[in-house]
Amino acid sequence: MVSSRLSGINKSASLALTRVTADFKQKGIKVYNFGIGEPDFTTPEGIINSSYEGARKGMTHYTPSSGLPQLRQAIAEKLSVFNGIDGALADEVVVTPTKFALYASLLALLEPGDGVLIPEPYYLSYPDIVRLAGGKALPFSLPRDYAFDLEAAEDLVTPRTKVMIFNSPVNPTGKVYSEKDIRKLSDFVIEHDLMLISDEIYEYIIFRGKHFSPASIPEMRERTVTVSGFSKSHAMTGWRIGYLHARREIADACDLIQQQTITCAPSISQVAAIEALKDSDSPRKFTAEFRARRDIVVKMLNEIDGIDVIEPDGTFYAFPHFDIRVGSERFSSDLLKERHVAVTPGRAFGERFDDHFRLSFAAKEEDLVKGIEELGNFMKAGKAEQTAGS
Ligand code: PMP
Repeated sequence: MVSSRLSGINKSASLALTRVTADFKQKGIKVYNFGIGEPDFTTPEGIINSSYEGARKGMTHYTPSSGLPQLRQAIAEKLSVFNGIDGALADEVVVTPTKFALYASLLALLEPGDGVLIPEPYYLSYPDIVRLAGGKALPFSLPRDYAFDLEAAEDLVTPRTKVMIFNSPVNPTGKVYSEKDIRKLSDFVIEHDLMLISDEIYEYIIFRGKHFSPASIPEMRERTVTVSGFSKSHAMTGWRIGYLHARREIADACDLIQQQTITCAPSISQVAAIEALKDSDSPRKFTAEFRARRDIVVKMLNEIDGIDVIEPDGTFYAFPHFDIRVGSERFSSDLLKERHVAVTPGRAFGERFDDHFRLSFAAKEEDLVKGIEELGNFMKAGKAEQTAGS
């Protein structure tokens, strides 16, 4: 029998979609897949080569659980220089797959039943990771333009509220929060004596604005677990490699969890990560490509009657609103069945977003153009049907 701990845990919506898409592909049907959350680029060759050479030289064994010392050191330097985390130390870094970093830090911070504030719309795994770690997810809404207004969060704070999860640039909206917003957030976290888990995995993919790390604020350094990784910046999703940074006591707790679960991050991926940290060109190139696609996607989407979208400042996602009166799951599954366009239902990012969908523009420009044309046709038919029916 499966443990009750898993009751109420959702399957990953994006992974479920990938399966349906794979079925279509097997039947030889072309699918415009805008559902997946990963860059469509292959990992840069220099990174692949360094890992291969490392493996040939015997880097195929367990590493220390918290990661190769050279990598932890390089990450600490990156956190100091790029993220402005004053004097970040290698001892405060745990090398681990990014999603596991989220899970381990929640396990390390929460007592069973403790509350975790999550701004909505959120990365779809957050509430389930919180539940798996024994916590209580407390999603709170932001205004329609995603401005950082914490009024709704204020109402949810109780003595059992321990953590807030923050993500900028945001999956799924592409919003990049400003230093001013993040200072406001920090005041809130300090006032309510919370810990902050700051998920910065899209930190390099920014078109407008500037990345700002909460842990760069001196009073937040001890209160923040900074989480990031190489999946998005260097197109390395399959390598399962990322890291967390926290004050020593918390980093050690996460390391303990890692020791008794996955042991360490894959050795060959750690070698690759050392090389990735030296490669600042690839994230720049990928970002330029994503920006060009964003411009096309936003223009095309806003030209469709019944669709409107706020221009993303970063990431490779757009989060459009649609005005056909069906739920987002039905909307997405009809769009896939009828027009072979895969997007992720808005509901997966928060219940209030059942009239949205997420479109990943980590796809070829030509496919984006054709797929969004199909979406336009789908909307036209849907709107005609709605008018006839009303
Ligand atoms: N955080 C966010 C906001 C993400 O979008 C993702 C990946 N989709 C992750 C964490 C997890 O990253 P990884 O696959 O590298 O574990």
